[in-house]
Amino acid sequence: MWNVAVPVPLRRTFLYEVPQEIGDPVAGARVLVSFGRRMLVGYLLSESRSTQDPGFKIKKVESLLDDEPALPAELLAFLVEAADYYMHPIGEVLRSALPPGIDPLTSGGSVRAPRVKDRVHKVVTACSLASGALDEMTRRAPKRAAVLAMIVESGPLALPRLRSVYSDASKHVRRLVQDEMVSVEERERPPDPFWLTSVDRDTPPTLTAQQDSAVTSIVAAIDSGGYRGFLLQGITGSGKTEVYLRAIEEATSHGRGALVLVPEITLTPQLVNRYRARFGESLAVWHSGLTDRERFEQWKLLRGGVVKVAVGVRSAVFAPVEDLGIVVVDEEHDGSFKQERGFPYNARDLALLRAARAGAVAVLGSATPSMETFHNADIGKLTRLELTSRPTRQPLPEIEIVDLTTHGFGPGGQKVISEPLHAELTRILEQKEQAILFLNRRGFAPSLICSSCGNALRCDDCAVSLTYHSRPPGVMCHYCGARRPAPKACPSCGASDLEPLGMGTQKVEELLAQLYPSARVARLDRDSAMGRGAQPVLDLLRQGEIDILVGTQMVTKGHDFPRVTLVGVLLGDVGLHMPDFRAAERTFALLTQVAGRAGRSSLGGRAVIQTYSPGHPAVAFARTHDYGSFAAYESENRKELGYPPFGRLAALRLSGHDGPRVEMAARDIFSNLRDAWRRIDRPPISMLGPVPAPIPYLQNRYRWRIMLRATRQIQIRKLLSEVVSQIESPPTGVRIRLDIDPVSML
Ligand code: ADP
Ligand code: ZN
Repeated sequence: MWNVAVPVPLRRTFLYEVPQEIGDPVAGARVLVSFGRRMLVGYLLSESRSTQDPGFKIKKVESLLDDEPALPAELLAFLVEAADYYMHPIGEVLRSALPPGIDPLTSGGSVRAPRVKDRVHKVVTACSLASGALDEMTRRAPKRAAVLAMIVESGPLALPRLRSVYSDASKHVRRLVQDEMVSVEERERPPDPFWLTSVDRDTPPTLTAQQDSAVTSIVAAIDSGGYRGFLLQGITGSGKTEVYLRAIEEATSHGRGALVLVPEITLTPQLVNRYRARFGESLAVWHSGLTDRERFEQWKLLRGGVVKVAVGVRSAVFAPVEDLGIVVVDEEHDGSFKQERGFPYNARDLALLRAARAGAVAVLGSATPSMETFHNADIGKLTRLELTSRPTRQPLPEIEIVDLTTHGFGPGGQKVISEPLHAELTRILEQKEQAILFLNRRGFAPSLICSSCGNALRCDDCAVSLTYHSRPPGVMCHYCGARRPAPKACPSCGASDLEPLGMGTQKVEELLAQLYPSARVARLDRDSAMGRGAQPVLDLLRQGEIDILVGTQMVTKGHDFPRVTLVGVLLGDVGLHMPDFRAAERTFALLTQVAGRAGRSSLGGRAVIQTYSPGHPAVAFARTHDYGSFAAYESENRKELGYPPFGRLAALRLSGHDGPRVEMAARDIFSNLRDAWRRIDRPPISMLGPVPAPIPYLQNRYRWRIMLRATRQIQIRKLLSEVVSQIESPPTGVRIRLDIDPVSML
């Protein structure tokens, strides 16, 4: 008998018999099983001596899908533990750890081939084109020309990727082949956009004394084998990546593997090239822009032991890197390590668990460590390593705070470009330097208000106001993505007095163009990037083709721009007053990271932060680059309130289309929790709720939540396990999600 995990929303496994004739079963292999009336792909977990499975009739496994386990032993054991910690159904956890599309399709009871298969890749390359050929074709056959332009622009391109942009790409490619404008060849290895250009190997720089001492500690830990966790706390530009690179080199030189997790937004060709320059092609890259097939290829390279180093976003924490020697989490404070949908995990926390179970070294790096990580270093769970200066000896930029409560309008008739910021911009334009302006609001204006009745235009499906966009014109919900033309008249009073209120990046871009007609102004946000990522615009900035770049979070990351000598934060308060206990921490980190973009070269630099809360510690300590004082202040707050890292949280999130039904389910589950709490002798757990979520209505669903808080997570999990059957069988039309260590408070 085998314990088999099946991808169903139940927190248990099922016994199956593995008949001898179907092959040699091994833990971690996928199997086809009949479950109820369905056929499902399950995972062999372990052998069992039981011959009974209460409430379940033991059946035979239909077939064995893998000779070699899809999940190697180390990864499997880690995932089992992760599922247990997050109280998430094991089958769903295992499925989310494997590349999508590799399972046979079993819907309708018939078993068909998987979507993703071992196959060579069709790769399209442009031939050298006569000048003007593309323009000429644009007039004649615009669609085909667009396909050709994409091939020319990006270099060799996998056909499926082309098809993901132009659904009828195959047809156009056939014509382009006939016309000898492109050629198609078959290749073993997929051309990830990150692999297009070859990268020269670099010469490692001589380490600074602080880097050297950090590397020495980490290397010693790798050499002595076994788990050890580090916090590498280094100011922006202090050379943390170089420390990771050396440590990884040490691990790979002993034949061990390495895993590097980075935030989605920093996984750019720039960053990957730094790893490629050191490790060449023996690198797997893992990100959300890959097609299923490409992801499968990267997974196979690791699973087969062909490459031993993986760099990727949060889900790479499940990458089947063999014989892990080191796990790095770069910018560990970043919110993108938290997965919210499906299996809600925190990749930073799982990275520590995985390293611990694999006997590897973990390195969490940041200029602004999360309070959790900072606390772990304080209590000795992590060894703290510090980099307090930059290798270039460049000081951190001087930061000026502009108090918007006392400053009036700037020369543009708006507060958003205050007089001091205007003067700084004028100066850098004269000196032919560059500026980055940051505003965490895309679109033209965050709301459209009727000046007759005062009503704000709202999303039909969410309890939030619609953002007005000027390009392309219309209103958009930033929560559900719904977009429509802006109405001419107010939907509640009929007056045609709708006015944009407040300021987004598009409006700032316009304002800058008016204020500085000769400056080259560009904008970088999700709308301007249009799915191409930040790279093209950041390249223009680096090449000096842009004088002022205004943008959202996307401008806060990325590498050095030597001529950027001014960073402006247009409204340092966005996010500070959110109903979220981490609002101050996030604001401090953001201000520090943005300011860190300025003054990377000998030109020096400064930052201007405009804010309505100049005295708030998140702002005041950012001004003096004083992480330590901020952390001390924030620790006091958290301690008092029993919030992480001094307490632990879990959230139960309920949602559904029928508001009263959701509320009733929330009250039911809450009273069950209370009963269970009394039953298990009233452990020290605060139960908060049930209350409507701060955004009570999202994507057409009403949302309620219950929060649990205790000193230790084990206490919460014990209580939750008492109501697991209720969580697993919610009333019809109601969804209940369990979020251990929640990050989003909305
Ligand atoms: P961080 O990740 O800490 O913000 P980076 O790793 O991006 O910093 O390093 C900042 C810059 O310093 C990079 O251009 C990097 O190449 C350079 N650098 C790092 N270490 C050294 C060194 N020991 N000597 C000279 N330059 C270095
Ligand atoms: Zn919406």
